[in-house]
Amino acid sequence: MDYYGKRYNAYKANLHSHTKNSDGAYSPGELIEIYADNSYDVLAFTDHRKTNPVSTYDGKGMTLISGIELHPVGPRNLPWHLLALHVPEDFPGEYESAEKAITAVILAGGIVFCAHPHWCGFSSADVLALNGISGIEVYNSSCRFIGKAYNDQCWDELSNAGYVLGALAVDDTHNSSHLFGGWTMILAEDKSPASLMESLKNGRYYATQGPQFHRLALNGRIFEAEFTEAAEVIIYFNNSRGICVTAPNFPDYGTNNIVSSFAKEIPETYTGPIRCRIRDKEGRYAWTTPVYVS
Ligand SMILES: [Zn+2]
Ligand SMILES: [Zn+2]
Repeated sequence: MDYYGKRYNAYKANLHSHTKNSDGAYSPGELIEIYADNSYDVLAFTDHRKTNPVSTYDGKGMTLISGIELHPVGPRNLPWHLLALHVPEDFPGEYESAEKAITAVILAGGIVFCAHPHWCGFSSADVLALNGISGIEVYNSSCRFIGKAYNDQCWDELSNAGYVLGALAVDDTHNSSHLFGGWTMILAEDKSPASLMESLKNGRYYATQGPQFHRLALNGRIFEAEFTEAAEVIIYFNNSRGICVTAPNFPDYGTNNIVSSFAKEIPETYTGPIRCRIRDKEGRYAWTTPVYVS
């Protein structure tokens, strides 16, 4: 993929999954089989409070990431769900506070995302108090069964408050009903864990439920994108600003305005982060990470 002037490989990743080692229905071997058979390149094991011996597993061609989901107590006594990736296989699972958990992960060479804040009952103000996270989950497939799968608004509120982060789409696999709902395309030079983590740390990825981005570019104030067919394209700015690239054509909304590229000038009255979301005819979204327009 051509990503702001540089070419990267795009690796399909499920970065949040549970096995029988916590509350998942699949063994690690079954999970590997399922994702390898569905052309994933990367799979992270993130059991609740427990790591897995991923270095002893056969990844069937996928890069396996050693991860863990941590649950220190948060505001109003609600547990955080912190998705920690690239941690040592003997990484401890219990922490007194989110601050201590995040610090421990970073010192061990890993990164942390705030998993499904809407489902947890956390507001963006709660998430804003977390220092050191690399992003949140914009979409979590397992949370859709109580209607709390999306975190688009939380993501924007963090951005409005100056906390500009990336966002993942994940399955949070516990059983078969969570499979293949959302994934993250990591844009990296190779699929070694170090290279993948470098990209995740730097926001070099996009989240998707199906649509794909082929090219993103920012030439001065012109934002350009190429992607698979989309019925709706939005460029998000902070606060009350934004651009709808496609004009909905009632009553055929979503069918008469299919586009697969655009170039839009960002008004000179706006400086700050922008991000793009596309929606295909089937209603599936893909989200870029933010870039700054100065
Ligand atoms: Zn969780
Ligand atoms: Zn989980």
